[in-house]
Amino acid sequence: MALSEFALIDRYFRNCGMKRTDVRLGVGDDAALLDSPAGCDLVAAIDTLVDGVHFPPGCPAASVGHRVLAVNLSDLAAMGAKPAWALLALTLPNIDEGWLDEFAAGFSALARSHDVALVGGDTTSGPLCVTVQILGHVPHSQALLRSGARPGDLVFVSGTPGDAAAGLAVEQGRLQGAPDVAAHLRKRFLYPSPRMALGKSLRGYASACIDVSDGLLGDVGKLAQASGCGVELSYKELPVSEELVAAVGDVRARELALTGGDDYELCFTVSPSNVGRLRQDLPPERWGYSLIGTVREASGAVVTQNGNVMEFSHSGYDHFGK
Ligand code: ADP
Ligand code: MG
Repeated sequence: MALSEFALIDRYFRNCGMKRTDVRLGVGDDAALLDSPAGCDLVAAIDTLVDGVHFPPGCPAASVGHRVLAVNLSDLAAMGAKPAWALLALTLPNIDEGWLDEFAAGFSALARSHDVALVGGDTTSGPLCVTVQILGHVPHSQALLRSGARPGDLVFVSGTPGDAAAGLAVEQGRLQGAPDVAAHLRKRFLYPSPRMALGKSLRGYASACIDVSDGLLGDVGKLAQASGCGVELSYKELPVSEELVAAVGDVRARELALTGGDDYELCFTVSPSNVGRLRQDLPPERWGYSLIGTVREASGAVVTQNGNVMEFSHSGYDHFGK
């Protein structure tokens, strides 16, 4: 016999993620009671993954559980915040215990590794769709905003964007490659690592920050627009992974680094007066970020090579775009 809704919640979600002493009351009552630290802003974000839109049908359940939390954690990283609590709204077409086991394991492992407690949620029946709301903290007036960049600031990105878009193509059978390369790229899509430590450490260094979810070029454009300026990225400085270049070649790799999605890296700006301190306190080799461009007065986000502006047909994913 299928599990009742109550038994399902009890089995999979009552003890999911980290146990935290600031959770006065977690899963089980009508609402959770949470103890917020003094001196901090409460930071809240929410993201939904829809089957067939944000992950391909048949995607491993552990990956869905991991990603729905990872995309939310990444938003908190981009604010320089520390995550604490999550709520999970789960819409399931049927009760598949094998799927739920894996889903909860994927969610719980990532939650534990970032000290996040699952404190509540909602479970309904319908087409597969998962939503997580994340709550966390940042000391008053220290959050990293999109709007703080100024002309002359330098632009950086963490990691190697583009891998996840290629990994999705591998997952969907649209891209083949040597087994180790394909496995690496696929993992970059299925199990992204939100840059929590970097985000928190950028407080006091970065003038603005955004997480890269819809393509670097589009997202850096959002940061520039929020700051009332523009950016110029250097084509040859884009950090592309060996694996990505091996799978698709250098030109396509750079195109994916600019326009692919699902990277969950951080793109941030630093004023010239803070760059020395940044490099000294957070060495780029150790922290895994690269200088890719500069903020300028003219609006828009452009990519240049040897002084020439390059055209990219697709600058990020827009759900309602054509
Ligand atoms: P109510 O009808 O009062 O909203 P529910 O029956 O929906 O209560 O939920 C009972 C308890 O289980 C609540 O504490 C709720 O937060 C929690 N809960 C429900 N679904 C989930 C889920 N998918 N993950 C975590 N907690 C959940
Ligand atoms: Mg409810």
